[in-house]
Amino acid sequence: MPETKPVRVRFAPSPTGYLHVGGARTAIYNYLFAKATGGTFYLRIEDTDRKRYNEEALHDLLRDLKWLGLLWDEGPECGGDKGPYFQSERLDIYAREIQKLLDSGDAYYCFCTEERLQEVRAEQEKSGAPVTGYDRHCRGISREEAETRIQAGEKAVIRFKVPEDGVTIFDDLIRGTIEYQNALLDDLVLIKRDKFPTYHFASVVDDHLMETSHVLRGDEWISSTPKHVLLYKAFGWDPPMWCHLPVILAAGGGKLSKRKGAASVGDFRDLGYLPESLVNFLALLGWNPGDDREVMSIQEMIDSFTLERINPKAVSFDEKKLQWMNGQHLRLAPTSLLAERLKKDLADIGVAVSNYSETYFEKVTEMLKPRIHFLQDLAAMAMFFFKAPGNFDEKGQKKNWGEGSRGIAQAVRNALQTTEPFTAAAIENAFQTLAQTRECKLGDLVGAVRLAVSGTTAGPGLWEIFETLGKEESLRRIAFAEPLMQE
Ligand code: GLU
Repeated sequence: MPETKPVRVRFAPSPTGYLHVGGARTAIYNYLFAKATGGTFYLRIEDTDRKRYNEEALHDLLRDLKWLGLLWDEGPECGGDKGPYFQSERLDIYAREIQKLLDSGDAYYCFCTEERLQEVRAEQEKSGAPVTGYDRHCRGISREEAETRIQAGEKAVIRFKVPEDGVTIFDDLIRGTIEYQNALLDDLVLIKRDKFPTYHFASVVDDHLMETSHVLRGDEWISSTPKHVLLYKAFGWDPPMWCHLPVILAAGGGKLSKRKGAASVGDFRDLGYLPESLVNFLALLGWNPGDDREVMSIQEMIDSFTLERINPKAVSFDEKKLQWMNGQHLRLAPTSLLAERLKKDLADIGVAVSNYSETYFEKVTEMLKPRIHFLQDLAAMAMFFFKAPGNFDEKGQKKNWGEGSRGIAQAVRNALQTTEPFTAAAIENAFQTLAQTRECKLGDLVGAVRLAVSGTTAGPGLWEIFETLGKEESLRRIAFAEPLMQE
């Protein structure tokens, strides 16, 4: 195939269920490859299996792809000049194309009933036949006889006449040369009884007519590829470049499935992952940018994406790593965006958010940003900035409010009383001076009052907390907690 052919790649999901992260990764690689090469990324909906078609799945699929930021250049909603992009709207095209294979003798009508096929299978299994599958019973029926029977009302499927011997060879850009013995391939069905094409037939016809330059898909399709290659040959068409992506395993081995935890894009969204984290994480499951960068924006990934750096080895899905990555992306996200989410979450749990300024929200967010792994952590962590703690961490009380702590709290309160301006730097100074005069450790002072103002023992810097709460509120909180401290 000429090297100069423009890159046109597709994501071709069947809308039968949720968008699995494996599917999302396929979409991501297609998207990155198209953007990296100035090519086209199109979306084709493979909805020819009418029994498994699910309207809601289609809706969710489009929503999830958009959420991930994988906007397609051609496809549903936006259209394009190689459409229609729903296979169910292309039946006339498949009807036209199948005629070519019937005419050339590469396809034939098969009248075998489901019962007969079952009997054949059972027989093959019983006798331990090395090759199971269709026994090519109808392969010898002439076109004329077949058409007469069809006109008389008999139902038939159309099968592909796979060569009985020889090998089919194709190059996979990631895995190298792959060979299949034709004798092991079945005479697969191309058109079903309901006149709908099978996946194999529709996919080959569409990839050709839609001018797909590269097929990047999950490795579970690799055994379908020799069939596709033979179909291209029968049509006299050039096949696209093949690129089968590495399998994604669950952390403990085996397939990644709902049973083992979150597996769909929607699951991860509900858990509070940012789309940019999920895209970054999935892109690195099988690909690397050629250096040790891990946290990358979509543009950075586009800039360094090449197919050569996709590794064929199976990869395992490490959710811990995804969590870490989400934390990293949260730190990179604009504070105003996170502050907005904080405001919404607090409003949802009844906080009178209108009492606080935008600056206050942003200040709190800025402080907590380095400490969160998930967006939804923000509200719980920020709560004490909006509501004085009514109860205090018990372990923390034992540790920090022992003998002498009340005196410490009172001394801190006195020192803060005269601290002007009430800024983090001045507050820190006041603490340093107090520690010197009392000849105690700074940590002792901090421990006792941190619990009083925030209700917990861990959190952002205490000086910033004081500054944000303001003098009056800070002093009030310390005074409120003092009776709980030992003298
Ligand atoms: N419709 C197939 C799927 O659901 C597409 C396979 C392919 O990319 O050829 O994954």
